[in-house]
Amino acid sequence: MKGRACDGPLSNYSLAHNYQTDILEVVFSGRLDVGGASEQTRFSLLYALLEGASSALEISRDDVDGTLYRRTAGTSTLVLFDTVPGGAGGAKRIAEAFPEVIGAAHERVRNCDCGAETSCYSCLRTYRNQYFHDRLRRDAALEALDALL
Ligand SMILES: [Zn+2]
Repeated sequence: MKGRACDGPLSNYSLAHNYQTDILEVVFSGRLDVGGASEQTRFSLLYALLEGASSALEISRDDVDGTLYRRTAGTSTLVLFDTVPGGAGGAKRIAEAFPEVIGAAHERVRNCDCGAETSCYSCLRTYRNQYFHDRLRRDAALEALDALL
């Protein structure tokens, strides 16, 4: 990359690995799709749904996580997955009880005391999503959840 031969020591690093688990892919159209929703909205909705799933279905928050997945067709999806290798049934339960998950997520973000333009550890933030804290907004999650209810 620097235009010269590498003369330093070489080491092997694993940057990714295959991981077999259960997933739930949530596809949106309209204003929650990639063209209509900001990255803040999509991240905020993702973490609101994970918190809602955890409280509505009594799934440990450490046992489920999620990510944004951008499809080549121009759509954006949310992927919720079991963090337990092989899956522990959390993603399947979330799919089966999705309306309750949305309701619990809505209640959680609506009733938090932090500023609407931000988030806190009582609504959307966790240690695991600290990389995204600056993009998590309670008002964005609430608006997206309002559209789903
Ligand atoms: Zn909060």
